[in-house]
Amino acid sequence: MQILKSKPIDRSILDCNRLSGKIKVTIKVCSKEDGIESYLHVGSGLFNITLDKIRVRYDDLTKLISEISKEITRDASSFVRIKNLPTIPGSSVKGNIRSRIELSFIPKDGKIRCCFIRSSPPRREPKKGEHGWRHHRIWKESLQFDRKSCDYTRDEKVCLVCNLFGTTGLQGLIFFDDFIGDFETKIVYLPHGEKIEVAPPGSRFIGEVTFVNLKPEELGLLLFGMGLRNKRIGKPVLFGKYKYRNDLPYNFGVVRYEIEKIELLKSLPELEGSTDEQVRKLLELALKAFDGELLDVDEVKILERL
Ligand SMILES: [Zn+2]
Repeated sequence: MQILKSKPIDRSILDCNRLSGKIKVTIKVCSKEDGIESYLHVGSGLFNITLDKIRVRYDDLTKLISEISKEITRDASSFVRIKNLPTIPGSSVKGNIRSRIELSFIPKDGKIRCCFIRSSPPRREPKKGEHGWRHHRIWKESLQFDRKSCDYTRDEKVCLVCNLFGTTGLQGLIFFDDFIGDFETKIVYLPHGEKIEVAPPGSRFIGEVTFVNLKPEELGLLLFGMGLRNKRIGKPVLFGKYKYRNDLPYNFGVVRYEIEKIELLKSLPELEGSTDEQVRKLLELALKAFDGELLDVDEVKILERL
């Protein structure tokens, strides 16, 4: 599949004909009032491991490992904390939005607008129950196209999404803060005794997304990637770990992005109005610029039916 690429725009100057500024964003874990009650787990990838007295037998490694394993207590997989508050790292938010944009693009006239940053060789569609089958069913329309990731170190041209979000050797134009939550987390037990820290339904994480030198339709595309359509509150989208597990006592990973405020360094007359109106206009511009190239996939509804 041919990917549309161009030379990335100059990062060293602030272009006053483009948009720079920041967006204040809330990520809300969906609750009953959103029509689906969910929990969220975004792990730090760290486990606290406690080792107690172990008698070591040097002559038998297998036995030694098994003894150690027995003594290890796996503690709760927990949120990253900033000032002791549960936090979603900015890199996780970026990854969530970027991959939704990548997966939403389909080719037009034999060319596609963006690569997959983590391209993997095309594989057959996984059978029901195989690893990744739910993800594949949700995004099968765009996953059927082979898309190699851009390589800025070899080629001076990159795709639209690499220009916006960056790739090896190229800084992006959009930057993500950590998203901080101010609520009490809960500990839940999964089958097989795994213990995880979760954000309960209705929890909110607040953060900022900063951008420089974007075209209006590119800012609109960023909002599209958050699941926003025609108002400042987005549709439910999937985020974090366990979102595809259906053997758990709760729903996991259903959130909404909510735009609290869009602040532009230099405002444009056509983008004045309430936040709802700003979102609507930016989305219109994106859908017009990328007409026929963006899928409007309702991940949460499709997942519910699988
Ligand atoms: Zn790319």
